Amino acid sequence: MRNLKIEMVDLKGQYAKIQQEIDEALLHTIRDAAFINGPQVTEFTQNLSSYLNGAYIIPCANGTDALQIAMMALGLEPGDEIIVPSFTYVATAEVIGLLNLKPVMVDVNPIYFNITRENFEQAISTKTKAIVPVHLFGQCADMEPILALAKEYNLYVIEDTAQAIGAVYTFKDGTKKQAGTMGDIGCTSFFPSKNLGCYGDGGAIYTNNTELAERIKMIANHGQVKKYVHKYIGVNSRLDTIQAAILNIKLKHLDEYSKARRDAADLYDKFLSGINDLITPARAHNSTHVFHQYTVQIKNGKRDGLKKYLESAGIPAMIYYPVPLNEQEAFKSIGKVVGSLKTTEELCSTVLSLPMHTELTFDIIEKISNEIKKYFK
Ligand SMILES: *Cc1c(COP(=O)(O)O)cnc(C)c1O
Repeated sequence: MRNLKIEMVDLKGQYAKIQQEIDEALLHTIRDAAFINGPQVTEFTQNLSSYLNGAYIIPCANGTDALQIAMMALGLEPGDEIIVPSFTYVATAEVIGLLNLKPVMVDVNPIYFNITRENFEQAISTKTKAIVPVHLFGQCADMEPILALAKEYNLYVIEDTAQAIGAVYTFKDGTKKQAGTMGDIGCTSFFPSKNLGCYGDGGAIYTNNTELAERIKMIANHGQVKKYVHKYIGVNSRLDTIQAAILNIKLKHLDEYSKARRDAADLYDKFLSGINDLITPARAHNSTHVFHQYTVQIKNGKRDGLKKYLESAGIPAMIYYPVPLNEQEAFKSIGKVVGSLKTTEELCSTVLSLPMHTELTFDIIEKISNEIKKYFK
């Protein structure tokens, strides 16, 4: 018990359980030498499409590229506005600036950490062309009202689902949809620590729109219609065959991985209930949670002290995210803030993400929780 090595993410432990299959797939890929657009890429694209109930899948090099390519496909003009939450990872808004579009940053909901219809609505202007709900920490934003708003104002919806692959949202009529397949385009990342991670960089773009799928596919491949015919200015963004081979194996385990994360979260909830200055993460009634992060809020200025205390006890904990996007120097001159960012500011000073991965055991979670309780005693 005393020698438990605790990590934020245990990629080695996860690999150990599928080692033989992974090793064989890697060797096979190397011996085949079809490193770019090999058969495993096509296979993975088909497998992910089935997992996402038939959506078109365009694989690409990483989640940031996925967002950039999605935005390039919408035919936007310089100065057009895209609304994003200010409480998210930088990539969501960075690509907007890169394309000479204007990121408009708004607040999020204090209970679920996600952006809502109301947050978007107050910021809509005549220049608004798209909105980006981020399914933060593994739980879907409340999409039904967001989709209705987008329809009303004729806006594109790009879902940043880098943290929520496998989460399922339930509409009022009982329809269930996978995160990333509800808006016009969904963007995900296969960064190693993501819920479906490869062994390097990778990403994918989803859409149910045939015309958008065609354009996205071309843009990801130099704007190419066919060899040496280029219709759009595009990029070169591909998923390596080696990464696709790994993802084909890991996709089969994704639901089991999501369950392991959920079970770990349930256990944390149980151990950490009843601590005055600690709020465990809320679960929405209409979305499953795949717990990319297990993020608690620590009140009354005790967050940084707890983080230090845990570190001295050999327990890592991370702050996602310490600074609102709008306060980043990079966004000072290009971004626009609409409304109060009270919740974002509050969250940046209270959130703490605890170790969360597929290999957590009862003993590890109990130890982490006991240390947390000791700090609050
Ligand atoms: C990880 C992440 C990205 C970017 O993905 P990369 O593959 O690292 O480029 C974008 N948005 C969110 C919310 C993320 O968590």
